[in-house]
Amino acid sequence: MTAAASARQILTSLHEVMASRMHAQGKLDQVVEIIGENLTSEVCSIYLLREGMLELFATRGLNASAVHVTRLAIGEGLTGLIADNVETLNLAEAKAHPDFAYRPETGEEKFHSFAGVPIVYRERAVGVLCVQHVDPRRYEDVEIEALQTTAMVLSELIANAELVDEEEALGLPPEKSGPQSLGGLTLVKGLGVGIAAFHQPRVQITQVMADDTEAERERVYRAFDKMRDQIDGLANQAEFGAGGEHEEVLETYKMFAYDEGWSRRINEAIDSGLTAEAAIERVQQHTRMRMREIDDPLLADRMHDLEDLANRLVRIVAGQIGTAAQQGLRKDTILIARNLGPAELLEYDRRRLKGVILEEGSLTAHVVIVARAMGVPVLGRAKGARGMIRDGDEILLDATAATATVRPSAQMAEAFEQRFAKSKEKQAAYAEMRDVEPFTRCGTRIQVMMNAGLRDDMSALALTGADGVGLFRTEFQFLVSATLPQRERQLKLYRDVLDTAGNKPVVFRTVDIGGDKSVPYLASGIAANDENPAMGWRALRLALTREGLMKAQARALLEAAAGRSLYVMFPMVSEVWEFDAAKAVFEEQIAFLRTNKKRVPEHVYYGAMLEVPALAETLDLLLPKLSFLSVGTNDLTQFLFAADRGNPALAERYDWLSIPIMRFLKRVVLATVGSNVDVGVCGEMGGRRLEALALLGIGFRRLSITPAAVGPIKELVRRIDLAELSQAMDRWLAQPDVNLREELAAWASEREIEAD
Ligand code: PEP
Ligand code: MG
Repeated sequence: MTAAASARQILTSLHEVMASRMHAQGKLDQVVEIIGENLTSEVCSIYLLREGMLELFATRGLNASAVHVTRLAIGEGLTGLIADNVETLNLAEAKAHPDFAYRPETGEEKFHSFAGVPIVYRERAVGVLCVQHVDPRRYEDVEIEALQTTAMVLSELIANAELVDEEEALGLPPEKSGPQSLGGLTLVKGLGVGIAAFHQPRVQITQVMADDTEAERERVYRAFDKMRDQIDGLANQAEFGAGGEHEEVLETYKMFAYDEGWSRRINEAIDSGLTAEAAIERVQQHTRMRMREIDDPLLADRMHDLEDLANRLVRIVAGQIGTAAQQGLRKDTILIARNLGPAELLEYDRRRLKGVILEEGSLTAHVVIVARAMGVPVLGRAKGARGMIRDGDEILLDATAATATVRPSAQMAEAFEQRFAKSKEKQAAYAEMRDVEPFTRCGTRIQVMMNAGLRDDMSALALTGADGVGLFRTEFQFLVSATLPQRERQLKLYRDVLDTAGNKPVVFRTVDIGGDKSVPYLASGIAANDENPAMGWRALRLALTREGLMKAQARALLEAAAGRSLYVMFPMVSEVWEFDAAKAVFEEQIAFLRTNKKRVPEHVYYGAMLEVPALAETLDLLLPKLSFLSVGTNDLTQFLFAADRGNPALAERYDWLSIPIMRFLKRVVLATVGSNVDVGVCGEMGGRRLEALALLGIGFRRLSITPAAVGPIKELVRRIDLAELSQAMDRWLAQPDVNLREELAAWASEREIEAD
């Protein structure tokens, strides 16, 4: 008999038992008989979780009196180990295994070989199915697969017959259910509590046995085709933007997606009578076991990729393709993902999204900037997060301390709650700074403005008392729409923003699309094929060639600001002529509006972002043309260090607070002295206290920062003496080998200035 035929026979017998009107215990008794017989195994036993212990529920071959008597803790003996690790064991000699625990009441001493598989329900082991044999031999692959299939059927039975309590099924075995902590890198500070949800949700398999094998095969074929298409298209998605690690992952994906062996094994599992979903999962369980046996860290990494892909395949088969955002968040949520794009994050409901845990991510990736703007804490570089966390786990996220506690104990949750309350108090204290003007101790007024990008962000202006919006990222509207926002929609947004801002200035940055902010409807042909999108066809470069786009935006801005002041800023200016060309688009539109007797702004102030280092060398030419200059340190620093801001491998590598960066920035400030140009910083670094100290110390008097940082930075400003600070900075900048971060921290702490 072929392997598939024997598996099919087992499944047919199981089908009959499951379909019978017998009570659950009777069915379990039958199942152990069927398995024992088909695998010619002297022993077959089923252990199920009851009151936190694995209890022998049915057996063929062990002493019948041990049923409902023998109980093992999770992690105890081989059975406990299987449940604990949720993985299969296959041993020729059970006694030789260090975890072997002998239970005299079972009479199992005469058996040598042992194989067991976990019975998994909602990603947790709720029981174990095992076989034992007198001969010391390892079980064959087909036998293990038969066990895995049976375990899946049993999990369906357990779910339907409520053999284990729902609570128990959802709780983990004590050891694994115990709190686990996860480390990473702080990407957006803050605390959050919520239930874990995967950005790419996992599918719960509800039907294991197929009604129509051919139909299942068809479903899998179609899913494979679709998955291969998706993989081929993935390179353009944010989750898999260009760059080192991602490309490797993508290559591995391709390798697996086109792997004949994988699709053949799934097909064989379908032959044995499983549904498409169950077949994919069964093959996956088997691969998992093999990979663990090989115990090679490189392979383990690849295993993650295969898991990803298998999840993707199951989701396609099951027709559950949407992200957690598309399915809607029902509770306060901590979102888990390998990586996200800014547009993907923006799809989430802000009220429910309490935090994000990424396995990758870096400080200035746009998704992180968006999260910061949304006020959502983000823990990044959290290796292994998707393995440790399960859907629905409670999570205490402390992104400030760069940790998350998964499945916390009651005490932990309580302690966290207290910290959370304290931090909210602190936030409230900062909110009280709203009406306090940021004068330094020496009496200089610092402009503390905020960054924004969406209509909703504008409420922060009144809440924080920021001096205005120093950077309004107009591309956010483009990122959140499925199609290019028409001029009327842009106009409406800009008008609303200006209305909310009242007398306070708002600096609109023209669209900065491209790089890690790709939009499908604009990418065609150009940005999509960039090998280095950050240095590619983005921002002003793209806008100047897509003249229609720039014109529409210019018109929308000019009309929105009719009768008021308009501040426009161009991103990624690399050469002076680009500024001229962009300004010309606006001037042309002003002329057009005038000719058509339409109202225009009372005054238009033009500014440029300094993000491309080369521009710093032509400031003598550029400054006379500008009203203001804003240094975009996110991009500038990536170019100065030649370190991709979105590349997770470089996330911790280069420090903004380094002598070369600070020397460069200081030269920029000095270049503006004597001009009428107002110079400021609108990159993320201005919102961090130590970095802000350094920037103020080299002469910047305007910072535009994330709203949450406005309070803390205002407080910082009020505690410093600029002469003293700039002297210290001058001293450090003269010594190229000084550790600026440490020096500044010590300087601040000596003066009892809080500046972590
Ligand atoms: C910057 O580059 O510093 C900046 C503020 O622009 P963005 O982060 O949107 O690229
Ligand atoms: Mg930028």
